[in-house]
Amino acid sequence: MIKSEALGIATIEAWPVQLPLNAPFVVASGSMSVAHNIFIRLTLKSGTCGYGEMAPFPDVSGEDQVACLAAFPAAARCILGQSVWNWRKLAHQLAEVSREMPSVRCGLETALLDALCREMDVPMWALWGGADVRIRETDITLPIGETEQVVCKAKEWFSQGFRVFKVKVGQEVDADIRRIEAVYRAFPEASFVVDANQGFTVSEALQFIESLRRLGIPVLLLEQPVHRDNREGLASVHRNSPFPIAADESVRSLQDAELLIREKAVDVMNIKITKCGVVESGEIARLAKSYALKLMIGGMVESRVAMGCSFSLALGLGGFEFLDLDMPLLLSRDPVQGGYAYQGSALRPWEESGLGMEMGEEPLSVIAVG
Ligand SMILES: [Mg+2]
Repeated sequence: MIKSEALGIATIEAWPVQLPLNAPFVVASGSMSVAHNIFIRLTLKSGTCGYGEMAPFPDVSGEDQVACLAAFPAAARCILGQSVWNWRKLAHQLAEVSREMPSVRCGLETALLDALCREMDVPMWALWGGADVRIRETDITLPIGETEQVVCKAKEWFSQGFRVFKVKVGQEVDADIRRIEAVYRAFPEASFVVDANQGFTVSEALQFIESLRRLGIPVLLLEQPVHRDNREGLASVHRNSPFPIAADESVRSLQDAELLIREKAVDVMNIKITKCGVVESGEIARLAKSYALKLMIGGMVESRVAMGCSFSLALGLGGFEFLDLDMPLLLSRDPVQGGYAYQGSALRPWEESGLGMEMGEEPLSVIAVG
């Protein structure tokens, strides 16, 4: 078989997977106790396969597992038979057919890139250029909860080596301030990423920021203080904040990133492959860097499959200052083997091809295309 034929996509399978969280994940925009995700296996004519993951967060993107499974066959068929050598073209085709279903697009893109890298026998970060391959530290999320319990959880993480707490806020300003202050008093060496998940008005955000400043809390950045469409509000918070302001829900496409840059609305872009796929995430990173914005990388409630792909972008493209790649640590089980590894707060890169992962268990039933 000639090479370009061998690299043609022969079959794509999808199956649902339930990933319970150790504790309910509560943020301003919703909550989750089990991640209802979908795994993908894409097999080339050569027999090489690659894995991907869809991680819909219904309260954020409006997608859920049922909708993603329903949208999967049509999206998969649009790339079936094509060569993964043309990965950028395939990514654009997936964007066309699943613009409203970013998890579907992300899962398929991850799988086709994993298969390509396995066929080439390079780790996925090498595909992006290997700009910054080293052990990196992630923050750890403290979801919204009772102050005492949150401090208790912070203590556990601190003892495991975590020094950056990502505190979820945005439900009630005073309670949010008290909770952060309590964690700060308990761990004065720690620093803070604060994420409001669109929960504040502009004036609430400014009041919140002023309180944290007066308390002397070391805030590395404040993420998405106001509603995603309120770019003017975001810009106003940004102009009046001593802390860097990051866009998350406001940046769900390259076009969103262009608008935020033009309107000087933020200092930092939080890039997530589940919002706009892998290739477009890379394009956003390049654009943001060229305007001297800082880069953050994060994810939804997902396993190491999706998160490994995100880590490959941080390692391969370089320039990511803030890593928010902690989600698999909040899950009660790890469904995959191999790939990158956690050692406390450290993520250790892998050297095996693709994502370097294998499924820990075979699916009971799959939806197959091809
Ligand atoms: Mg966020």
